[in-house]
Amino acid sequence: MTSSNLTEAVDSICKKFSITDEQLKSISSEYIRLTKLGLNHNGEAMAMIPSYVTATPSGRETGTFLAVDLGGTNFRVCSIHLNGDNTYDLLQTKTVIPRNLMVGTSKELFSFLAQKVKDFIATHLSEKFDEDATDHQLKLGFTFSFPVSQTAINRGTLLRWTKGFDVKDAVGQDVCLLLQDELDALNLNVHVAALVNDTVGTLMSRSYTSPGHHTTIMGIIIGTGTNCAYVENLDAITKLGEEKISNLRKNSPMMIINTEWGSFDNQCVSIGSTDYDEQVDKKTPNKGMQLFEKRISGMFLGEILRVILADLCSQKLLFKSSSSELETEWKLDTSALSRIEADFSKNLIATRLLIEKELALESTLEERKAIKTIVEAIGKRSAYLAGAVVAGILEHTKAFEKHGIIDVGMDGSVIEFYPGYESLIREALSAIIGQTKESRVQIGIAKDGSGVGAALCAVVA
Ligand code: ADP
Ligand code: MG
Repeated sequence: MTSSNLTEAVDSICKKFSITDEQLKSISSEYIRLTKLGLNHNGEAMAMIPSYVTATPSGRETGTFLAVDLGGTNFRVCSIHLNGDNTYDLLQTKTVIPRNLMVGTSKELFSFLAQKVKDFIATHLSEKFDEDATDHQLKLGFTFSFPVSQTAINRGTLLRWTKGFDVKDAVGQDVCLLLQDELDALNLNVHVAALVNDTVGTLMSRSYTSPGHHTTIMGIIIGTGTNCAYVENLDAITKLGEEKISNLRKNSPMMIINTEWGSFDNQCVSIGSTDYDEQVDKKTPNKGMQLFEKRISGMFLGEILRVILADLCSQKLLFKSSSSELETEWKLDTSALSRIEADFSKNLIATRLLIEKELALESTLEERKAIKTIVEAIGKRSAYLAGAVVAGILEHTKAFEKHGIIDVGMDGSVIEFYPGYESLIREALSAIIGQTKESRVQIGIAKDGSGVGAALCAVVA
């Protein structure tokens, strides 16, 4: 093994992951094309789901609301007090969902959830609730992170379960009604006012907390997965049909759309594909789907790196020998990439320790430099892909004609913790729309999308 062989191999990998300015522009155009398809027809790859949320908060809203979040392992119940000055107070409890309820009947699951709401009110809100109970109901926003077909702000039919849930009789039923029935059975004066996707919640939460009078037009999540919601012109959502559009238009000219952008360009017409992406995709239960997400989000970046390192090792270009850790699928978490990116020590000590700890391998400085270069290529591609589609949305919505400053809310560990991620998004934006426009985009972290965001959906409902 010679060092120039490793350098050559790393160069060639980085080339595969790099995205030129031309490619950025074509990704952005392809995104606009598929956006329009999804707005015009049901059943397109990029679902463009109407949220029926037709207003964003100003930050001056007040009151006390409930929010619940059924997403995966935990069920969260929160109360949110909006102070009316862009700030809020949030109280929350978390319960692990018993395994048997995840595969039982809808009655068992939803009565359990309703009971948790009752317990929460008794513990944290009893005074407030007693005084309110007589005259008005507590409004509740329901964050439900499973595929639903929404027909109104608080109506949504469950299409299928994911993430280990399999409550068969719930499929095809309205999840808001299932929850409402069980809340009613406990005599709780609580109204399920909104069914909320977490990206819509992120947009709403940013819109409420964002300083100044700028309009927030996007909510983006880059965590385990990735998705985005944005503010669309009602008239552009032609798949709703003329009658529905004209009814809705009486209240508002806009609606928030949940893009489900994780499935953008599953054909890889514009986003490109490497042999490493294909190796990772093969091991997933939804092979060939969510390919945009599989190049961007936290669930996948660590595995992409592992697959590359294992390949270089098998070619005898990296490490003296392999280890069972290096051969173990999903062994590397995306936080490992963050730590390597953040290692600026002369001898890359943090990287050396990480490789020892996670992969049980010794490394030379030269090998660590090579690994860092690969990590940078993976991280940069992720942020560039995200930046390219953000540029697509800005152009599609004519954001620069409508707003001075364009506000974007983001959430998720990748965007929050990956070093330099926002700068890389901005680099891509700048390459597509130019630096003058890029500088008008304001990006901020939006916390508690499924708490305060869901409550805000209940407010505007
Ligand atoms: P969720 O998607 O469940 O809401 P998060 O937003 O925390 O949760 O995202 C979790 C994902 O983020 C995981 O895939 C994990 O690998 C990744 N992650 C966690 N910490 C970091 C970090 N420091 N840097 C980059 N990615 C991270
Ligand atoms: Mg999240």
